[in-house]
Amino acid sequence: MIDLHSHTTASDGTFSPAQLVEEAQRVGLRTLGITDHDTFSGYDQALPLARAAGLDLVRGIELSTKLNGHSVHLLGYFLNEPHPGLAEFQTWIRDLQESRRERNIRLVARLQELGLDVTMKEAEARGGGMTGRPHFARLLVEKGYVSNMQQAFDDYLDESAKGYVTRREPQFAEAAQRIGQAGGIASLAHPIRLREDLAKVLPQLCADGLTAIEVYHSDHSPEQTELYLQLAQEHELLVTGGSDFHGAAKPEIQLGTGRENNLRVPEDLVDRLRATQA
Ligand code: AMP
Ligand code: FE
Ligand code: FE
Ligand code: ZN
Repeated sequence: MIDLHSHTTASDGTFSPAQLVEEAQRVGLRTLGITDHDTFSGYDQALPLARAAGLDLVRGIELSTKLNGHSVHLLGYFLNEPHPGLAEFQTWIRDLQESRRERNIRLVARLQELGLDVTMKEAEARGGGMTGRPHFARLLVEKGYVSNMQQAFDDYLDESAKGYVTRREPQFAEAAQRIGQAGGIASLAHPIRLREDLAKVLPQLCADGLTAIEVYHSDHSPEQTELYLQLAQEHELLVTGGSDFHGAAKPEIQLGTGRENNLRVPEDLVDRLRATQA
């Protein structure tokens, strides 16, 4: 069993890198991809533990990008070979982390303006170095302003909600190109969440530097998975897949097997992806 999409406490997951490695062993994973939002630090902490455990670990990242005005998530994989473009990529993701911090300052101000008693200190106590909207959501639940995380997004934090503040996000094309220039594979995360018709925008995405699609994901039905597989073949894209495990932040999703066992990522995917990395 393999799983190429997971999050640790380095971003918005609730399992520490060490706990995630343990969980991977418990469920019997051969290969685990760690794809924290905007950071490699969870992967870097997990690597020695995975090595000791005999678990094959893939270095990944998940980036929030803008495509035609909407937020689209892009996964980058294998950003760890001794590649000349990697240093520049690391510098660039530090900019992204900074844009998140700057957004968080405005988000706190906006929520206070709406009459909520929340501080940056409280949010950061839940998010650490990578505080994001899910941590704000948890804070609003804990303070009793909303009854659950989904309501926190619906009422305050979603793109269409009253507390939303924009974040400086890279354009999809820039992010895809930067992943490519650092020697990585750029895979469209959970295409089901795309606001546009994937078949229509795929030629544009491929021209922008997309090299893979996340065909297998906990949010995909068998029919959708089949459609994405066909589209990947038509456009000669690589295929990736994973559960998008976040621990207790998304308790219905299990590492490796997804939502009520709805996920099975073919193991030979990893070999095909690695074959492009020669
Ligand atoms: P941020 O990167 O801080 O803007 O937070 C984005 C994260 O919040 C995403 O990766 C999702 O995990 C979560 N998220 C965004 N929108 C929603 C929503 N409408 N409902 C639930 N979770 C969401
Ligand atoms: Fe997330
Ligand atoms: Fe995502
Ligand atoms: Zn994710």
